[in-house]
Amino acid sequence: NLSTKLDRAFKTLKGQGSITEINVASTVKEIRRALVDADVNYKVAKEVTDKIKDEAMGREVLTAVSPGQLMVKIVYDELTQLMGGEKQDIVIKGEPAVVLLSGLQGSGKTTFAGKLASFIKKQNRTVLLVAADVYRPAAIDQLKVLGEQIGVEVYSEVENKNPVQIAQNAIQFAKQNNKKVVIIDTAGRLAVDEEMMREIEQVKRAINPSETLFVVDSMTGQDAVNTAKSFNERINFDGVVLTKLDGDARGGAALSIRAVVEKPIKFISTGEKMEALDLFYPDRMAQRILGMGDVISLVERAQQQFDEEEAKRINQKIRKNQFNFDDFLSQLEQIKKMGNLKDLVGMIPGMGKAMKDVEIDDDAFKPIEAIIRSMTPQERANPDLLNGSRRKRIAAGSGQGIQQVNNLMKQFDEMRKMMRTMNKMSQTKGGMLQMA
Ligand code: GDP
Ligand code: MG
Repeated sequence: NLSTKLDRAFKTLKGQGSITEINVASTVKEIRRALVDADVNYKVAKEVTDKIKDEAMGREVLTAVSPGQLMVKIVYDELTQLMGGEKQDIVIKGEPAVVLLSGLQGSGKTTFAGKLASFIKKQNRTVLLVAADVYRPAAIDQLKVLGEQIGVEVYSEVENKNPVQIAQNAIQFAKQNNKKVVIIDTAGRLAVDEEMMREIEQVKRAINPSETLFVVDSMTGQDAVNTAKSFNERINFDGVVLTKLDGDARGGAALSIRAVVEKPIKFISTGEKMEALDLFYPDRMAQRILGMGDVISLVERAQQQFDEEEAKRINQKIRKNQFNFDDFLSQLEQIKKMGNLKDLVGMIPGMGKAMKDVEIDDDAFKPIEAIIRSMTPQERANPDLLNGSRRKRIAAGSGQGIQQVNNLMKQFDEMRKMMRTMNKMSQTKGGMLQMA
């Protein structure tokens, strides 16, 4: 494992008073070996370690940092640079925007297609998935299963064996059906071959995508780099998707692909769940390679999942007419995080109306929050408890006037009334209430 090897390399430096030519040389050699062992292309490993060496030799060692720590920092910076420095976003442009996926069979194209669709859908853009793998009938079914799972429509033509036509027809279909982003999943082969290349080239020329992504299995090591090179020479893709970075994958592919093909890695995929997609941050990957763990991505994903579960939970309570002040408070928190009151209007029926007089900034919520926080847990859970004397106590406790408390109560009642009405409507008319 690269991290442990690098660790060992750094240990050589630990306890030593300064970075000298001798200890840098031996450390750098170990780092290079560790990188090569982790599937980093030799030429790339040599280039980056030469840079690390120059960098290290030029530094005065600050007393506060050990030479080992300084070395880690230098290596971290260089690895980050090697992987492109800055995060690079996918380009989604056009009416509709078209994203074309390429890569070998088994690289994870179809799985990624689903993940990307789900990712884009979460940004409130309509997506169409297109099955343009004409060789395996099962490929269409696989995409359809994923589409169903994430609630995204899948376009396919069972009889048509021409991927160029399918792609073109799909784009027509997207225009007619108001889909803003089209993701085209193509066929791959087990190895680079002329027919596959010609096909993907033709599809690309015919549809002119705003983004062509090359999907590659990071477990394939050096082969990943060679495959990336072949694809790039033929279709000049815009970015790379590294899949299967869960499991035992070594980070080497990430390091060399960027350096060899000079195209940014844009996404990493780390599992078969539809949420297991992350934007690629060179600095975080460098951290991960150095064994610091990809903490930031983990935290972000946990947060996203939490938000989704919370939305589902509140949705349930609204349906059961059990929405209370705890839920209200939780919604306020969410809104503050989103930083946009408009998002809220779509989320809770009636709330937009109830809050129409409220200024749209975080401070506007403070009196409301103060009032709710001054309620006892029982009162929050059961707003009907709030009689006159309780309201008076809450007003005093929150530093708000009794008028404000009464206003909030009135708004809250209106909201609940609205929710009830909508629930009734959805029960009678069937599915009017569509949220989350
Ligand atoms: P395609 O042939 O390029 O379309 O590849 P698929 O999307 O069908 O994926 C091939 C296999 O790899 C399937 O069994 C997927 O479930 C699996 N797979 C895809 N992406 C990932 C990933 O990020 N992590 C793991 N562990 N498996 C993946
Ligand atoms: Mg596939």
